[in-house]
Amino acid sequence: MGKPRVFVARVIPEEGLALIRETCDADIWPAELPPARQELLSRVRGVEGILSLLTDAIDAEVMDAAGPQLRVISNLAVGVDNIDLDEATRRKIPVGHTPGVLTETTADLAFALMLAAARRIVEGARYVQAGRWKTWGPMLLLGQDVAGAALGIIGFGRIGKAVARRARGFDMRILYYDPYCREDPAAQELGAQCVDLETLLRESDFITIHVPLTPQTRHMIDDRAFSLMKPTAVLVNTARGPIVDPEALYRALKDHRIFAAALDVTEPEPLPADSPLLTLDNLIVVPHIGSASVATRGKMARMAAENLLAGLRGERLPYCANPQVYEAGMPSA
Ligand code: NAD
Repeated sequence: MGKPRVFVARVIPEEGLALIRETCDADIWPAELPPARQELLSRVRGVEGILSLLTDAIDAEVMDAAGPQLRVISNLAVGVDNIDLDEATRRKIPVGHTPGVLTETTADLAFALMLAAARRIVEGARYVQAGRWKTWGPMLLLGQDVAGAALGIIGFGRIGKAVARRARGFDMRILYYDPYCREDPAAQELGAQCVDLETLLRESDFITIHVPLTPQTRHMIDDRAFSLMKPTAVLVNTARGPIVDPEALYRALKDHRIFAAALDVTEPEPLPADSPLLTLDNLIVVPHIGSASVATRGKMARMAAENLLAGLRGERLPYCANPQVYEAGMPSA
């Protein structure tokens, strides 16, 4: 029997790629940009496995284009909002993802963005680069204190808790909103208080988002949410762009209804160079680098490869985003 054919949607770190090359007939998309839709549809034809990235929309059309022999989709991300999970589940195709290994790296970035926005670090660096630094100024680039401030965490899962651990070192008062873990024992350990979303928005000096993108969380931060925030509030989003309504964000920052924001993720993504958001001094945008450390990307690649290979062997994926596929027995091998 020949090696199983798979499509790998981008060059990923060698930790994962080497494993895939050993056992598969792998078609690896070589370009920096993701495959265009038509290219994706044609490349997946006849494959047994797809290793996708969050930039690839994997829906019924892609699964149809692949054909009925498709038996695993492995996403190089913890979030799986780019995949039609219900459709994959209906077809009994397990979907792999990479939880855990990127938690600390993403929490580091969320905290870095929080500090950078609060203390106007990017603005300050631009000011110096532009040759505008003439003297120590008593009113120059005044920001907000992080130490001792109130931090509101929306989504108290792995990354939300990792941010809370960092916040303890800054003596922050920690509030969280997460309807799915009201009684979380970790909250007590971290001194975090469970509140409703409105209380979190009203009382927090810093708000950081760590929920998955779902129909419930899409545009969760809208005009109304901004109207509840303090004028000194700083918003950080390292989860998924569409959780924040970009037009409402623009209005809130432009009118100084909040102090600042920092985004690792945007809607749309990437943000077009002529986006009005990029004209604002009180917004920092970085290009979706939450998990982008050498070590973490290596671990993610390995994990995604292991999910892919397990699926090809007809074994249970080590990290499966739709474990329901196993409920009525294993998917047909
Ligand atoms: P997780 O599943 O451990 O945590 C998500 C938490 O959100 C859970 O506790 C869940 O109960 C909660 N939640 C779900 N729906 C909610 C809602 N409507 N309101 C409030 N809380 C809700 O996931 P995680 O590993 O912490 O990752 C969180 C998200 O971060 C991922 O889904 C992904 O989209 C994003 N992420 C981004 C990057 C990046 O590169 N920027 C990296 C990793 C993860």
